[in-house]
Amino acid sequence: MSRAEATSHVSRFTAAALCWLLAGVLTAYGAGPTAPIRHAARPVAKPAANPVARPVARPVAKPVAKPAAKPAAKPAAKPTPKPTANAAKPPAGKKTIRMVTINKREFLVLRDVATFYGMNYKVAGANIILSSKYTTLEFTMGSRELKVNKVLVYMGFAVTSAKVGPLMSKADFLITLHPILSSMSLPRRKIKNILIDPGHGGKDVGASSANVLEKDISLQVANRLASKLKDAGYTVSMTRNTDVFIELDERAKLSQKNRADLFISLHCNAAEATSASGIEVYTATPLGMPPTRDNVVAKAACAATAVDKENTLLGYLAQRQLKGLCHGADRGSRRMRYVVLKDNAVPAMLVEMGFISNPSERAKLQQIRYQEQIARALCNSVNEFRDALKPKMPAAKPVSVQ
Ligand SMILES: [Zn+2]
Repeated sequence: MSRAEATSHVSRFTAAALCWLLAGVLTAYGAGPTAPIRHAARPVAKPAANPVARPVARPVAKPVAKPAAKPAAKPAAKPTPKPTANAAKPPAGKKTIRMVTINKREFLVLRDVATFYGMNYKVAGANIILSSKYTTLEFTMGSRELKVNKVLVYMGFAVTSAKVGPLMSKADFLITLHPILSSMSLPRRKIKNILIDPGHGGKDVGASSANVLEKDISLQVANRLASKLKDAGYTVSMTRNTDVFIELDERAKLSQKNRADLFISLHCNAAEATSASGIEVYTATPLGMPPTRDNVVAKAACAATAVDKENTLLGYLAQRQLKGLCHGADRGSRRMRYVVLKDNAVPAMLVEMGFISNPSERAKLQQIRYQEQIARALCNSVNEFRDALKPKMPAAKPVSVQ
């Protein structure tokens, strides 16, 4: 960390400025500066009293650029400000989130993030734990793994530290953490038409093991999911109903053609190690972040960029529902620009329902009971996602009783 500290400098911006930043992003996504900011009926976290609401309403020019660190002429040459005891621990009640720039990447002081959300802050060895009555966030020094109420969500950048303490990247705060903790900060959207994409098909069997083919399992679960979603009141279509081959880009195009509000692609995993097990949910890698498997930052936008934050929430909700089903490791909500994900301008996820290469998971994947459980879990997560993004209903007229 010493090298990082040598090139870092600390700046401060207030919670209000951060709210402005969030408001700016919201505006960019079309929510408008008057978008209602409140917390979901079933809050994942209970942040400090409505932190985002006030600044959003103020009709002043967006100071998105303002909170950025002052461009020091030569950061390397500039001595790092000595963090005083005060700097390490901001006075209670002062919602100041300090920002540290390390190698041109902006990071936020985790202790201040805790204060911002009204959460307790604790460091236990390599773990940094933020907790409230509703939510526990577990960060690990040097790791991209974030556990939100024990559900694994991969961040774009690892937690690092400077003299002021542990840090998380600003990009992860805005695109990974905040959409999960404050879903009401996301633009409202209707989730009604669901397009289910059973992976592979026809000449493309997908992964296979012991005569069990991924293309068959994906279609079987897709049919079960379709029936559950229809029962729940959704309009459902499928990229394929039979054992046919469809090009990947064609599947994403169907999303637009069918005016889908949500896209769900179903797959089975496979690995050389037959012990590998568990469920993974993928959403498209956000702009400015690397995919989960490497550190190559996505520098170009794609269709999915419009819904980067919604995708974070979707991936989390699905993984939360699914993780209890498998006794293997929680493999987490991950990011990857798969064709069917990156070309989708609506929230989209790809679910790896288990390892066909693992004998016991292969057996489970063929069982009606397990397929039903996966379908039920996915249907639940779609319901949660729909409710989290529900358009605001017009205020009810007061009922007059005569
Ligand atoms: Zn597949």
